[in-house]
Amino acid sequence: MEASKNYDYIIAGAGAAGLSMAYYLLNHAIFCTKKILIIDQTQKVANDRTWCFWEKGSGLFEPCVTQQWQSLYFASPEWSAIVNTAPYHYKMIQGKDFYAFCWAKIKQYANVDVVYDHVESITNDGLVHCTNDIFWGNTIFNSALYEIAKEESKHHLLQHFKGWYVVFESPILDTNIATLMDFDVEQHGDCRFVYVLPTSPFKALVEYTVFSKSLLHEVDYEKALQIYLNQKFPNQSYQIEHTEFGVIPMTNATIKALHNGESIIAIGTAGYASKASTGYTFAFIQRQCQQIIAHLENENKQKINLRATIKFQFYDSVLLNVIATHKFEGWKIFSRMFKKLPTPLVLKFLNEETKWHEDIQIMASVNFWSFTKAAFQEIKAAIKIFSKAKKNLQPLE
Ligand SMILES: Cc1cc2nc3c(=O)[nH]c(=O)nc-3n(C[C@H](O)[C@H](O)[C@H](O)COP(=O)(O)OP(=O)(O)OC[C@H]3O[C@@H](n4cnc5c(N)ncnc54)[C@H](O)[C@@H]3O)c2cc1C
Repeated sequence: MEASKNYDYIIAGAGAAGLSMAYYLLNHAIFCTKKILIIDQTQKVANDRTWCFWEKGSGLFEPCVTQQWQSLYFASPEWSAIVNTAPYHYKMIQGKDFYAFCWAKIKQYANVDVVYDHVESITNDGLVHCTNDIFWGNTIFNSALYEIAKEESKHHLLQHFKGWYVVFESPILDTNIATLMDFDVEQHGDCRFVYVLPTSPFKALVEYTVFSKSLLHEVDYEKALQIYLNQKFPNQSYQIEHTEFGVIPMTNATIKALHNGESIIAIGTAGYASKASTGYTFAFIQRQCQQIIAHLENENKQKINLRATIKFQFYDSVLLNVIATHKFEGWKIFSRMFKKLPTPLVLKFLNEETKWHEDIQIMASVNFWSFTKAAFQEIKAAIKIFSKAKKNLQPLE
């Protein structure tokens, strides 16, 4: 089969990762002149998600930031406090602003083609097979096609949430403080909390979030949001302006996407950007894009590794193990971390930027026996997988 058109770069999937990648390429003196194709099955314009993340200083997508905070409220039955995140800012970007910002840039370049079509497959010879056409790319960035392997020895949690943008009748919100995790909600044997992200004295995104193996019924998220709002803001009437719903995989399982040398690069959730133990993805996508640009600048022909280091993969597995097997309650883990440690250190750790001596401080803050048991189980599971793989590689006598 022949491609109808050839490109230097094909971006398959124009969501957070694909559009970030396009923006990074077009922001670069050399790569902005390349022939680029962006493919998505739909034209994304709706405000379908809100991204929060923390960073120091200004990032590339600073013009899209709706609101940012350096004071975060953390609440649990054990401990509640307003903590300071400096030098980090906790930032919020709304989907609609991000999409508009990226597309405004893309439209300035005549060398970028856009196709709305369903990607059926991407083959190792660089062909992207869509329902209506076939394209060839020298390098393909794939955030559209992936599958999470159903490995039994791995943890398969979901982070699922429903968010309401609520508008109160009175100006009751303090826009300087965002609620990062409010565990003052029924846990039902899971790890459940609420975010409250005020964007004006009247308006906030209130998001009910659950870490568990399966989703709730829609009505359960809504009931929980109603109860929370009535408890925290009694006698205040509000309108729901907009809603969002999301599911993010929290897993240490293999993500089966196409990673073939330097020519097909999986990015975004397909490329392990969703941190297994927290679900935070946006900041890791930005890091991936920066790594890819450096890789392309060096004309590096080796396979690029965008996955977390072995150290952070191990920490994620241990934390997932503790939460998934109920060795220690999720709310207590986060509560003790934030209580015992400086907030910037916790954020640095969750951003996978800490050094060994800082990791030791983090480990000292959590429940020793639960985490030690989980660590041994994860090491044992890894040895088992390694031995099985080695056995499968034995030559036949
Ligand atoms: C509601 C919601 C809120 C979130 N909030 C946060 C947050 O606060 N902070 C954070 O760090 N992360 C958050 N996340 C997680 C993560 O940042 C997002 O899921 C992010 O959008 C992942 O980026 P992505 O590019 O991998 O996937 P997507 O943004 O989903 O993009 C994938 C694109 O591929 C397209 N596509 C898929 N299949 C095909 C196909 N076969 N052919 C053609 N196109 C295809 C889709 O249409 C889509 O445009 C949130 C997720 C959701 C759903």
